Amino acid sequence: MKKVLVASFHHESNGFTPITSNENDFRVYYQDEIYEHIKENDSISGIITTLKNHDVEVIPTVFMRAVPNGEVDEVFFNEQLNKFISIAKNHLGKIDAITLALHGSMRIRNMASAEAIIVETLKELFPEIPIFISLDMHASISERLIHHCQGMVGYKTAPHIDCTETGIHAAQLTINYLENHMLPYMSVVKVPMLIAGEQSATDTYPMNYLMNELKLLEQQEHVLAASYLLGFPWSDNVDNQVSVCVVTSNNQHSADLYAQQLADKFYSLRHEFTFVTKAYPPKIALEKALDYTKNKDYPIYISDAGDNPTAGAAADNTNFLKLCLDNCHIDILDETLIYAGLYDPIATKACEHKVGEYIHLTFGASFDSIGSEPINQIVYVKNYIKDYNYNNMPNGDIALINIVNIDIILVEKHIGFTESKMFYDLGLEPKNHPIIICKLGYLTPSHQAISKMSILALSDGHTPQDLSRIQYKQVNRPLFPLD
Ligand SMILES: [Zn+2]
Repeated sequence: MKKVLVASFHHESNGFTPITSNENDFRVYYQDEIYEHIKENDSISGIITTLKNHDVEVIPTVFMRAVPNGEVDEVFFNEQLNKFISIAKNHLGKIDAITLALHGSMRIRNMASAEAIIVETLKELFPEIPIFISLDMHASISERLIHHCQGMVGYKTAPHIDCTETGIHAAQLTINYLENHMLPYMSVVKVPMLIAGEQSATDTYPMNYLMNELKLLEQQEHVLAASYLLGFPWSDNVDNQVSVCVVTSNNQHSADLYAQQLADKFYSLRHEFTFVTKAYPPKIALEKALDYTKNKDYPIYISDAGDNPTAGAAADNTNFLKLCLDNCHIDILDETLIYAGLYDPIATKACEHKVGEYIHLTFGASFDSIGSEPINQIVYVKNYIKDYNYNNMPNGDIALINIVNIDIILVEKHIGFTESKMFYDLGLEPKNHPIIICKLGYLTPSHQAISKMSILALSDGHTPQDLSRIQYKQVNRPLFPLD
């Protein structure tokens, strides 16, 4: 029976927030623990299930994942890497391949690309064993990763709903090698471009067209995988740009040729990338939303997109909320405006046991203190949930506070506001509320299902959508749209 070592390291590391991601942010499973956490839309689940279905013995090692946030703490990462190595060492000389579920844009504070470190470490232990990888679409591909990896494949959807399929695909690359004893040929071509995440949703042009080109190519004989890996704009490093990766079974020439063709196609469409929804500066976004409320077709969503925690922003920039607090038209809405939300562990805790009371609260701008200032107000505490479990993210308390006609959600943990379930759990019926503002980019399916209209606010924070505003120092130049 063939043996394959598997692991997953998932984190999208925003290089602009001062927050360091550490053990409080990550869920980590070791060895057999992963079998209790096989879940839907998850690349490592796809990898493990597919390998097992092909009678491969799976060697589980370390599996770690966190919501996007600042770069990962060096000491914490090295602890996990050392555990990974010590487990892997027990299998020296006994494994046939390695399959990893990686993000591709995980960065370690004071170090570099986590993925480069992981594959280099593995190659020192297992120089002859091939490594196959599944990646997030927003992977930043380093030369070190390319050098040590024999096949990779990325998600083809954004929002990412094909994570399991991508894991299955990476497992198939592995099985193909195990069955044929032939290493595939891989070619990576860099495209001198970066795209804001909110311009790359795959249900709109040109991404839908480009993704379809990948799928068509994958139907060709000898093509094992084709991927567009877009990089991650909110990190300043030399690896960060769009890459094309093609894996073929017949020869290097075909991989090189197809990769170059896909790269040319992508670059030729660079002027076609636009925001997937209406996008305005914050003040205009709010005015437009207020205007639409006259139709009484609720709720209207605004994404506070410059401070999007699902892309690693601090989620405590207060500028957009202040704009709302200063707008007298919000006071006369039928129902409260919901603002979801702000990451503030101390302010959240200050609301505990205070439901039904008015308290003096200072909140926000603890982390994004350069870009914004804390809010200091008398607030009414409407609800509080202790140790809230939010969509597999780390458990933490959440509070619902009110100022005039605005309900604000405060959270103790750095989570993404990706699920509308939080509103119902806090006693809010979203359909009754004219405007919902989320610190988010494009709406997730959960919010899309109830949204009557959505607007992207080009707001302040660590995930500015206008990339030309970012003072990059490390990225390779020239780079579209900067130059
Ligand atoms: Zn992504």
